[in-house]
Amino acid sequence: MCLKLQKGCGDCGYAIRPAVGRFLTCPVKEAKGEAAFEIFFARGRMGVLKSILEEKIPLSKDLAEFVYQCSECGNCNEVCHQTQNENIVLNTSKWIDHVEVWNALRKDLVEEGFAPLDKHAKLIEYMNNPDMRNPYGEEKAKKIEWFSEFSNVKDKGDLVFYAGCTYPLRQSITLKNMMKILQASGKEIAISRDEWCCGSVSLRIGDEKAVMENLNHNIEEFKKMGAKTLFTACAGCYRTLKKDYPELLGEELPFEVKHVTEILIDMLKNNEIPFKAEEGDLLKVTYHDPCHLGRHMDLYDIPREVIYKIPGIELIEMKRTRKNAWCCGAGGGVKSQFPELAIDIAKDRIMEAIETDAKVLLTSCPFCDTNLSDAIKEMGPEVQDKIQLMDIIDFIASKM
Ligand code: SF4
Ligand code: SF4
Repeated sequence: MCLKLQKGCGDCGYAIRPAVGRFLTCPVKEAKGEAAFEIFFARGRMGVLKSILEEKIPLSKDLAEFVYQCSECGNCNEVCHQTQNENIVLNTSKWIDHVEVWNALRKDLVEEGFAPLDKHAKLIEYMNNPDMRNPYGEEKAKKIEWFSEFSNVKDKGDLVFYAGCTYPLRQSITLKNMMKILQASGKEIAISRDEWCCGSVSLRIGDEKAVMENLNHNIEEFKKMGAKTLFTACAGCYRTLKKDYPELLGEELPFEVKHVTEILIDMLKNNEIPFKAEEGDLLKVTYHDPCHLGRHMDLYDIPREVIYKIPGIELIEMKRTRKNAWCCGAGGGVKSQFPELAIDIAKDRIMEAIETDAKVLLTSCPFCDTNLSDAIKEMGPEVQDKIQLMDIIDFIASKM
């Protein structure tokens, strides 16, 4: 099948051109190595789509198994000359948005009953369970335990924090560190005791219907709280709230949505974060752009500005950075359904971080954090000794 489909330029699978600093290709194709046949990168996926439209290939469960082996990272969007990007601008530009196309196919698979795949179905079931409202299958009450010790949390206010599900249920230490940073600068925030999952998980899987109840509930909740600005620390929630919610609603939200780094940068510019005095050599750090912040939302500069303002550090970029950044492997439902594939992709990113000679790998997404951290564990002590993975929030808190 793959050979018959090889009619495109193939840049989405092979455009590695070190001489001009381009290393864009598909992380899934690279991780598959010898087993990477066409459907594992954009050219083959486009070929399959064409065949579906021409009714030569039916939608099926078998097809879904391949379609969901894509992290929706958007690297193919950056390399393909049929889309508009900084590297290639032709008069044919902006014909397609690959990630939107992959997602449209996922929606069709869901509609026809060939998806969600088993692990994905479980996440959506938990997300819609009235006693949970999170994809981890945890009781609702567990999601609000993390902020009980903080006195700067209010029920209502202009500035509302959306915790999402992953941080409070799996990495609550990072949220506690965020509260310490806010508290040190005298900032009060409002947090809902009844926020539901943003629905990112079901949107990436292609089940748009499953998200509407969450969307309506969350927006009403934040309106009731008096939100003027809603901010979140999770890259996936940020994309969902800021991009997907208005698109699904067909109108602007009644409040502004920000990522936590946009709050932190203001605090840093106003010298509101009390850092410890730094002595000795600069600590080399590098930064991994989460796909949901970078390619999906164009938020490249602010996390870097935040890092630059932390005393005592030197930021060294990885060879693939910003629009070129290598995916961590966790997105698009890959981590839950194909965990080994997710880790294989993450291992490449870890090696790239080590190549910079940085001692700390920073990121700003709990999914990247989990997957990169799982990869480091698997890679063993030799790698663990070379690099420490940290969320930007935890890193700032460690310097206070
Ligand atoms: S979105 Fe990423 S993983 Fe999916 S086909 Fe494109 S480059 Fe590959
Ligand atoms: S999807 Fe774009 S980059 Fe890939 S083969 Fe087709 S035209 Fe080339």
